[in-house]
Amino acid sequence: MWIGSSRNCKAQPFGIKWPNEPIKALGIYYTYDQKLLLEKNFIERLDSIKNLTGIWSSRGLSIYGKITLIKSLLIPKFVYVSSLIPTPKEFVSQLNQLLFQFLWNGRDKVTRRSVINEYSNGGLKMIDFDSMIISLRLAWLKRIASSNDGTWKRYLTHHLERFGGLFLFHCNYDVSILPLNISLFYLELLQWWSEFRDTFSSEKDWRYILWNNKQILINNKTVYYKSYFEAGVIHISDLSFDLNNKDSFSLVSNKISKTNFLVWAGLRHSIPSILKICTHKSTTGELSLKIDDNIFDVTKKKSKDYYTLLVSRKALFPTNVNKLQNEFHFTLEEAKQIFMIPHSVALEAYVKAFQYKILNSILYTNAKLYKIGFKLNDSSSFCSSEPETLYHFLYLCPFSVDFWRDFEVFWKTFDFRCKMF
Ligand SMILES: [Zn+2]
Repeated sequence: MWIGSSRNCKAQPFGIKWPNEPIKALGIYYTYDQKLLLEKNFIERLDSIKNLTGIWSSRGLSIYGKITLIKSLLIPKFVYVSSLIPTPKEFVSQLNQLLFQFLWNGRDKVTRRSVINEYSNGGLKMIDFDSMIISLRLAWLKRIASSNDGTWKRYLTHHLERFGGLFLFHCNYDVSILPLNISLFYLELLQWWSEFRDTFSSEKDWRYILWNNKQILINNKTVYYKSYFEAGVIHISDLSFDLNNKDSFSLVSNKISKTNFLVWAGLRHSIPSILKICTHKSTTGELSLKIDDNIFDVTKKKSKDYYTLLVSRKALFPTNVNKLQNEFHFTLEEAKQIFMIPHSVALEAYVKAFQYKILNSILYTNAKLYKIGFKLNDSSSFCSSEPETLYHFLYLCPFSVDFWRDFEVFWKTFDFRCKMF
C-alpha cells in the first residue's frame, strides 16, 4: 500500500501484492477511504453490539446490571480501536444513542451528565464515551514524552520540527492558528492536551513561553526562532523588558547566531503589554501540570487518570437534587449520603434501582402514567381517592401510613430478636 504523499500512486513494482482493499494490522483496518475506515473499524462493531443489546433487552435486567454489561462487554470492543485511530463524531453519537436506549429501554429518563457521575453524587457510574476517547488519546503523551526513541515517533517529531519538536507541548499554542499539516490523530491530541491543561492546571506557566504562543503574533502568525531557542531565549522574561531594545539586544546578540537588531526589536514589539511584566519561568524539561497541589506527571499517567478528571468536571448532580433539597430541606451533604444508602444497605440490584428511580422521580406512578396517556385516570392504586404522585404513594396514602406503622413495629421486634441471639 502506498502511503503519505504517494498515496495515489498506481505503480506496482517488485512483483509483490499491492492491495486495493483496506489493510488489516493487529485488528485495525487501515485505508485512505474514510467511508471504508468508518465502516470496517466502527460500524461493523456497532452492528455486533446492536445484536447483543437486542438480546439482552428482553431479559429484564436492572439498570445496574445493564451498566455492568455496557462497561465490561460493550465498551471494551472500542477501547483498542479508539486508542489507535480517530473516532468519528457521527459514530460516537450513534453509539451513545444505542447504549442509552438500551439502558433506559427507550428515551433517556435522567440527564446523561448525571448518569456518568459517582454513586455519591447521584450517578450510576455509566461510562462517558467522549471522555474515554479523549483519555485514551491523552494517554499517548506518556509514550511520546518518554525518553524511549521509537521510530514511530519520527512522524510526529518531523512535523513538529518547525515548532521546536516535542517542545510544542509546553507552549501556549492554538491548533487552529498553527500551520500544522499533520494527521487528525495528532491534531486532536494537541487540541485535547491544550484544553485539558487549561481546564485542570492551577498554574498556567505555558502562557509565559515565547514560542508558538497564541498571544504573541507577528503578521498574525505565532513564531518559533530556532536559534533564539537554542541560545536559551524561551520565556518572555528572557527578552529583558527592564532594558530598552538596544541595551537588551547587546546583552544577547553574541549568544544568538544569525540574528539582527530588527528581528529582536520586532519580537519584543509583538509581546502584549500585559505579558511584558511577567517574570515567570517554567520548566520545559518534564511535561507535567499542577492539579490541586499535586504534580500531574504525564510520563506516569494512564488513560484512567485523565478519565477520572474529565468526568469529574463534566458530571452533574441529577436535576431532581434541587427538588429534594427544596421539599425535604436536605443539605447537599445529606443528599450525597442519601444517594449512598442504597449501596450500603441493599445487595439486590433491583432494590437499588428502585431507590434510584425514587430519588430521580422517574418511578412510573399512576399520576405519571396518566400524564403520558397510559392510564385513564391518575388515582392511587391503593386508596383511589387521591392522585398517585410519588409523595402520596410513599407517605400520604392511608395504606402507606399503615404499612410504615406496621413496619416500624416489626422492625423493633425484629431488632429485639436479633439481640437475643
Ligand atoms: Zn392512596
